Amino acid sequence: MRNDSRLKHVQYYERRQSRVARKLGRSKFDTLLITQLADIRYLCGFTGSSAVLVLTRDDAAFFTDGRYSEQAHTEVVGAANVIIEGNPLRRALQWSQESKARCLGLDFAHISVSLFQQVQQQFGGRVKLEDCSGMVQSFRMIKDEQEITRIRGAVKLGAELFSTALESIRPGVPESRVAAEMEYEARRRGGEGMSFETIVAGGTRSALPHGRASHARLPRRGFVVLDFGVILTGYCSDMTRTVHLGKTDARERRMYDAVLRAQLAAIGKVRPGVGVSVVDAAARETLDRAGFGQFFTHSTGHGMGLEVHEPPRIAGKQRQKLQPGMVITVEPGVYIPGEGGVRIEDMVLVTDSGCEVLTPTTKKLITI
Ligand code: ZN
Ligand code: ZN
Repeated sequence: MRNDSRLKHVQYYERRQSRVARKLGRSKFDTLLITQLADIRYLCGFTGSSAVLVLTRDDAAFFTDGRYSEQAHTEVVGAANVIIEGNPLRRALQWSQESKARCLGLDFAHISVSLFQQVQQQFGGRVKLEDCSGMVQSFRMIKDEQEITRIRGAVKLGAELFSTALESIRPGVPESRVAAEMEYEARRRGGEGMSFETIVAGGTRSALPHGRASHARLPRRGFVVLDFGVILTGYCSDMTRTVHLGKTDARERRMYDAVLRAQLAAIGKVRPGVGVSVVDAAARETLDRAGFGQFFTHSTGHGMGLEVHEPPRIAGKQRQKLQPGMVITVEPGVYIPGEGGVRIEDMVLVTDSGCEVLTPTTKKLITI
């Protein structure tokens, strides 16, 4: 990395850490014990699989084990103390004790019972243990410039795999073969992995909202739902397109049109200040009017970033309002058991004045 870009890189992490530290200053916690790897990566850049990060109002310490010593020294940014010896959790707890923690925030939503017990044992009631789940995630929900650039890269690579899929989709080809071609191409083009198990679901299997690519062969005619994403520079992409094998009939065209209109109606609502439930309702009402409402059985979308599912959830009962910098998916679908299904999913960035659809791929129905 050149010196100026290294400096910029460091600044992103320092800014993220100081935002969390400021929030700590206004909260009951004096120390946060951060154990979720995505939170750790977000705050200090470490990409390994064993680490604990401790943040206080004016200090930060990073703990990992010997396997990651080299990696920690090159990657970790912002944390002045990088400690690599013994069990990272035990060392992190000792450090917190030495730095006189009184109220320790733990992410209850992401820690195991055994980890919680270890923490309790270490402090023996002298330190208050409180739930701080969602605290770092609430910062992660709003992407900074570096994250948006990385997400754009992941979306672009992900979208390129759609053409790979189109080349391999034919009647008689196993779904897993289509997924294999896409995943091979993702790796060849520099992807670090897939964001989740690739969904290729043909014919009546397209009615399964989560039909992971199976050994089933694609039928002569019917819908094929493709839902896939890649991880690039740590960030995930996620998109769905539905194509059709053979000629469509009138009902299939009505289904596809209804889902597409629902998706566009929902995207049409995306701008700062709008409640996520309004986006969800726009999709749902469009499908209701088209007579397919009862077959839309999941929420309209989710946030994206270092993880494929992050807050906010785009669903009816959620109260969250959209803010600039959020990256969400908009993915209504219709699934008719025994018949087939259609889903269309894009990634959308909330901008200052509205939104930008990041996924560049056509949504016109492709028949093969
Ligand atoms: Zn998806
Ligand atoms: Zn999704």
